[in-house]
Amino acid sequence: MKITRIAAYRVELPLHEGSYKWSGGKSVDVFDSTIVRVETDEGVVGHGEVCPLGPFYLPAYAAGVRAGIAELAPHLIGQDATELGKLNQLMDAAMKGHPYVKSGIDIACWDILGQVSGVPVCTLLGGRWGDDFVLYRAISQTPPEEMAKNVTAYREEGYRRFQLKVGGDPNEDIARIHAVAEVLQPGDKLVADANTGWLMHEAARVVRGVKDVDVYIEQPCVSYEECLSIRERTDHPFVMDEVIDGMDALLKLHSDRAADVVNIKISKFGGLTKARQARDLCVSLGIAMTIEDSWGGDVTTAAIAHLAHSTPTEFLFTSTDFNSYVTVSNAEGAPQRINGRMSASKEPGLGVQPRFDILGEPLVDVS
Ligand code: MG
Repeated sequence: MKITRIAAYRVELPLHEGSYKWSGGKSVDVFDSTIVRVETDEGVVGHGEVCPLGPFYLPAYAAGVRAGIAELAPHLIGQDATELGKLNQLMDAAMKGHPYVKSGIDIACWDILGQVSGVPVCTLLGGRWGDDFVLYRAISQTPPEEMAKNVTAYREEGYRRFQLKVGGDPNEDIARIHAVAEVLQPGDKLVADANTGWLMHEAARVVRGVKDVDVYIEQPCVSYEECLSIRERTDHPFVMDEVIDGMDALLKLHSDRAADVVNIKISKFGGLTKARQARDLCVSLGIAMTIEDSWGGDVTTAAIAHLAHSTPTEFLFTSTDFNSYVTVSNAEGAPQRINGRMSASKEPGLGVQPRFDILGEPLVDVS
């Protein structure tokens, strides 16, 4: 089943809350997302999505997704869309690095493989664990009392896991964590995600300042070594995210006992093929995971759902429903949150159909 055309569409995703704020004063008002379409000579068509969290979160930016696909696509025309391992080798040979560029193409080819096989991507990734899986809600960085109010409101919508965006002024972050902890109920889980925002002395103060709070500490500092230094002086459960971008990082983390949970973002690893490899490695090593992406709409949410739902339940710390944060739906058939939980589609492939009336004309079109 040969690839005959690869196209990329740009779609804007505004936020229900108006903006999303995290460490270091970073924020996004409207996400710039790319929908990737892969067509084949047998008429089967697959879709993927890549949406960086602005250009200042990971080494990825929205226009780079499209520029990269324009560069890479000519190498893929004529290749078999269902041979995911070979396709990934070919993409890596044609373009060094830039995993986020490859992610949407890889996801689209999993969509094709699922349709050809007549099974959901979830089945191809290992099988469905239970009826549904657990989600977290990211709480945008605002003053402590406002974050506590937002947690209460999202708790009423069914969420039981909350990821606070901290990584700001340490005194205020300590107040944020305490204010939110006070409105939680037994069984809820709280994560303080600094998104690399603290220097080591600041992180050290925060972990001491919240010593008696039941809270996970996520990616306090920029580098792996700085995070490890904080890990070694706190007994809070510990999560690493931004610095975990491949198998080498995961193996080092395991060897150093550097975290209890890791965050697997699909586009950070380069698509479902490599995110699945990372997921399976974590299961073998006994490391729990948050499974998600940098951001996205309905197509990304569908891809996340298939990977999360095929992860053994006890290893899935949390996942996410990005399509409920944004005001624009870019595809039909995407999974929807019910009581803080979600499930992958049972249709063949990803189970989504992009809304081309919203996507308009492609910005990249290679055939
Ligand atoms: Mg994180």
